[in-house]
Amino acid sequence: MRYNQPKQKLRIMKKILAGLIVIAVFLAACKTVPVTGRKQLSLVSNDEIFPMSFQSYQTVLDSSKLATDKSQVNMVKSVGVRIQKAVEQYMAEKGMSDQLKGYKWEFNVVDENIVNAWCMPGGKVVFYTGILPICQDENGIAVVMGHEVAHAVANHGGERMSQGLVQQLGFSALSIAVSEKPAETQKLYGTAYGVATNLGAMLPFSRLHESEADKMGLIFMAMAGYDPRGAPEFWKRMDKQSGGGSPPEFLSTHPSHGTRIQQLNEAIPEAMKYYKGGS
Ligand SMILES: [Zn+2]
Repeated sequence: MRYNQPKQKLRIMKKILAGLIVIAVFLAACKTVPVTGRKQLSLVSNDEIFPMSFQSYQTVLDSSKLATDKSQVNMVKSVGVRIQKAVEQYMAEKGMSDQLKGYKWEFNVVDENIVNAWCMPGGKVVFYTGILPICQDENGIAVVMGHEVAHAVANHGGERMSQGLVQQLGFSALSIAVSEKPAETQKLYGTAYGVATNLGAMLPFSRLHESEADKMGLIFMAMAGYDPRGAPEFWKRMDKQSGGGSPPEFLSTHPSHGTRIQQLNEAIPEAMKYYKGGS
């Protein structure tokens, strides 16, 4: 086809220009995930997400019975702090410390027989006592902690909310300031994390997010002095406790335990480079 008519040419030029603008805005709205280097959509800033996260974390704590077993609680807290330090060290080495701006790390144990743990955006972690027997020891706690902390450091919550905005508002979400849509942002946060208040669970992450958190978690735990080879062992115990059938609540169904254990085993050689043989 030939485009010899000026009007037609102009129309095509306009289309190309519009396309380029969308691409430019899209690129500007992208962040890079630490460790994996994956590009992710980031329409909602931490400044908008963290206040919601900190508030709902406080609501969970206020409406829960915190564990009283001091040795258990101290163990979870000390693993958390060690992994937090490892993350901070990793990000500093990679020149990505600015991505941790505004984080307010906190690690708490809720006395509830639920096989679960989670981390809200900005570093707000809860372990339920029900998962501790499966963790078995400090190294097992580090497996779960590394994974949960990784979800937060990888900004999975913000990415999920960004995808939700594009779904709801279409690509116009890319060109409008999302801060002008506080109601939508609030609602998306509530959908993902609001259920934590009464069910001790969250909207499950995607398979991609789960695999990414597994991989990052291995490196963070190894840097903190925990043996990453404990991760597949933890998942074997998880599998056993769920009877190989219905999956436990923790981390839901993605990916299946078999796939997960296989992927973890593949990622262990890389993580072992960061492991100095414990403290
Ligand atoms: Zn997860």
